[in-house]
Amino acid sequence: MNLSEKLHQTALRQAEKPAYYFMDQSTSYGELDSAVTKFADELHKLGVSKGDNVALVLGNSPHFIISLYGAIRAGATVIPVNPIYTPDEIGYILNSGDVKVVVALDKLIPLFEKMDPILSNVDYYVICETEPDKGDRGELSIYQKMKSFTKMVGAGDASFQGPELDSDDTAIILYTSGTTGKPKGAMLSHTNIYSNANDVGEYLKISENDRVITTLPMFHVFSLTVVVNAPLLQGGTLLIVPQFSPKEIFRQVKKYDATVFAGVPTMYNFLFQYPEGHKDDLRSLRICISGGSAMPISLLESFEQKFNVRVSEGYGLSEASPVTCFNPLDRPRKAGSIGTSILRVENKVVTELGEEVPPNGVGELIVRGPNVMKGYYKMPEESAAVLKDGWLYTGDLARMDDEGYFFIVDRKKELIIVGGYNVYPREVEEVLYAHPEVVEAAAIGVPDPNQGEVVQCFVVKKNEALTEEDLLDYCLEHLAKYKVPAKIEFLDELPKNTTGKILRRSLKTHVTQN
Ligand code: AMP
Repeated sequence: MNLSEKLHQTALRQAEKPAYYFMDQSTSYGELDSAVTKFADELHKLGVSKGDNVALVLGNSPHFIISLYGAIRAGATVIPVNPIYTPDEIGYILNSGDVKVVVALDKLIPLFEKMDPILSNVDYYVICETEPDKGDRGELSIYQKMKSFTKMVGAGDASFQGPELDSDDTAIILYTSGTTGKPKGAMLSHTNIYSNANDVGEYLKISENDRVITTLPMFHVFSLTVVVNAPLLQGGTLLIVPQFSPKEIFRQVKKYDATVFAGVPTMYNFLFQYPEGHKDDLRSLRICISGGSAMPISLLESFEQKFNVRVSEGYGLSEASPVTCFNPLDRPRKAGSIGTSILRVENKVVTELGEEVPPNGVGELIVRGPNVMKGYYKMPEESAAVLKDGWLYTGDLARMDDEGYFFIVDRKKELIIVGGYNVYPREVEEVLYAHPEVVEAAAIGVPDPNQGEVVQCFVVKKNEALTEEDLLDYCLEHLAKYKVPAKIEFLDELPKNTTGKILRRSLKTHVTQN
C-alpha cells in the first residue's frame, strides 16, 4: 500500500466528502483524486518516471497536496523544500538531490531565472500561479522549461495509470542535518511513510469524522505525517491554514468545529497569549498535539487549564518518518514526557556501547520499526553512522520510567530548534566563516520565551571595525530569517578542548553566567 493508492480507494468510497478546506473553499476526495491523477499524467508526459526526484518548494496549499500525491502516483520520489530558504540553501538541496522537476510558487520565478544555469539536473519548473497564467512565459530558454501547474491539472488524463510501486521504493527524501553536519536526504520508503501515518492515525484515533487544523508547514515531516497524511489516510478533512496566526486558528476551529490541532510549542505559546482567545473557543477540539521540540510543562498545563483541552506531546525525527512516541489517549498523559512507543515502533535507551540502560537511567534513544528510513541519499558512511543493527541512533538523550514513558533529557547532537524550525550550528558558522573579517565563529541555541530557542553566535574578528550590525546584515543575505542569530558577541578567542574542538557547552555556560 502507498499513500496515493490509499487516497484513490478513499475517493472511491467517499467521493463527495471534503478532503480539505483552503481559503474557505472545499475540495472533495473525488476532485482531489482526479487532480492528482491528471497531474501525475502530465508529469509522466514531462518524462518523470520511477527513480526521478521531484522537489516541492511550496507552502501549505492544495498545490502541495496535489503535487505530493501526484508525483508519487507518477512513480517519482518527492523532496519537500522550505520555500523560505535562501537561494544557496535551495540550490544545495536541488543539486544534491538530483532534482529533475521543481514545483514552486510563481513568486520564486526570479530565483529560478538566476539559478537555472547551476541547477544541473532540473529539466522543468512547474509554476503554481497565484495570478492566472503567470507560469507561461516568453521564449527565453528558461521560460520554455516552465510549465503552468493549473494547465497541467486541467489537461491531464484522469484515467492515467502510474507504474507499479514497490513498498521499498523511496517515496520521500527529507533533507535534514541528522545528528551533525551538512543537510542529508533521509530516504523514506512507501512502507516508512505509509506505516507511520497509519500507525499515528490509529494511536491518536484519527477517523473520517476528524477535521484537522493543518498549519504546521507541510514541507516538514511532523506536518506531513500527522496533519496531512494521517488524516487523509483515515478519510478525515484538513483545514489548511497557510500561515499560522492565532486569529486564523481560532476562526477556523470555531467555523469548522475542528477536532484536532497540532503545533510546535511556540504556536501553543502564541495561542495561549492571544488576548482574544477565550475558554470555550477551542471546545470542539478533541485533542491538541505538540511535537518538534520540548513542550515546557508550565505552558502545557496552563494551556490545558485555560482551554479545557488535552495536550498530548509526541516525539519524532525525520529519519523515523517521524513519529516514534506519543502520549497515549487511553492512558494518563504525563507532562514533560514524549509518551510511550507508538504501535509497531520500539524505543530503547542505550549506553555509548549500545547496551540497554535500566528504567530511569539516561542514555541515547534508539528506535526500530517500519518507520525507520532506508538511509541518507547517496551517503553510505553517514547512514552507517546512525543505522546500526537495524536501530536508528537518534542523537537525543532520554530516560524511560517504570511505566514505559520516555522523557527527552538533552540533545547529544547540536541541533537548535527556533520556533519549531531546525537550525544546525554548522550552517550558521559556515556563513560566518565565509565573511572576510571573521577569524572564528561558533553558534549555540539559547532559551527564548517566544521561540523556545534562538541562535546566538560568538565571533573572533580580524578587524576591530566589524560590528554586530554588519554581520547580522550579512547573515540576512545568506540565511533563512529564523537562522539569523538573535545576538552576536565578539570574543578574543573561543573556548576549545585539547584537540582544538570548540566547546559549545562552555559558551552556553558563558551565556547563563552573563
Ligand atoms: P526533525 O528531524 O526536524 O524532525 O528534528 C528532530 C529532532 O527534534 C529530534 O531529534 C529532537 O531533538 C527534536 N524533537 C522532536 N520532538 C521533540 C520533543 N517532543 N521534545 C524534545 N525534542 C524533540
